[in-house]
Amino acid sequence: MPELPEAETIAEGLKVKLVGKRINGVHIKRRDVLNITPQRLRPLLLRRRILSVERMGKKIILQLEGKRSLIFSLGMSGQLYTLPPEVKPPPHTHLIIEFSGLAGALIFRDPRRFGGVSLEGEGLPKTSGSSIRNLGPDILSISEEDFIALMGRKKRQLKALLLDQGLICGLGNIYTDESLFRARLHPGRRSDGLNVDDMSKLYNAIRQVLAEAISAGGSSISDYVDAQGEAGNFQVNHRVYGKEGEPCPNCGNKIAKMKIGGRGTHYCPHCQPG
Ligand SMILES: [Zn+2]
Repeated sequence: MPELPEAETIAEGLKVKLVGKRINGVHIKRRDVLNITPQRLRPLLLRRRILSVERMGKKIILQLEGKRSLIFSLGMSGQLYTLPPEVKPPPHTHLIIEFSGLAGALIFRDPRRFGGVSLEGEGLPKTSGSSIRNLGPDILSISEEDFIALMGRKKRQLKALLLDQGLICGLGNIYTDESLFRARLHPGRRSDGLNVDDMSKLYNAIRQVLAEAISAGGSSISDYVDAQGEAGNFQVNHRVYGKEGEPCPNCGNKIAKMKIGGRGTHYCPHCQPG
């Protein structure tokens, strides 16, 4: 499942290809991935220039002329990449955007359709789903001080709190488990029970885990764009995520799995005592 490092890598890749280019073709294959009708979307996109490509949480945002943003949510299986002109769009391609000065096209595909595309900005209705309006600050933008203040105000289990995109956006299931392991904090501990040292450790563990995944994602994503659009697999060696029953890399005890807030959660009961 794409998480922040994948979105960051995609956004960085698209920045190079799309910034300054003007949209000159919009082909909509599935309207139900959009927040507005194709009839409305097409004229709002055509002839607009891309001012920037950004990432917010796990979403990728094309900032357009006219104070509008085209927002892509990757969901469980979303892919966003440029396809060379000689390659036919693969199945489950829902949206194709062409640009002047770019051979080929940008495609959005999402076989499982948990993702989506939304256009937001001046004169457009507030929408849910792909919206960025309800997101908390990005986990890589928030300062340590603000992170600690936010954690201290909430009285929730760490895992559930970190996954709540309305509080802080960007963390998914994988990197939450990895970060809590590195900070040696039990995922079920309550945020208001942590001291400042614990919170500082957690903040820095999150940034370290994400930075490593982003640097590993860079190579796999450029392969994926240049090849046939296969989703990249990060060459990151997860320490607890998906390792239930395997020895903990710190202590050798078995990694355990439990459910918190409905999400499968991996941790080491010895290194992360409750
Ligand atoms: Zn351990």
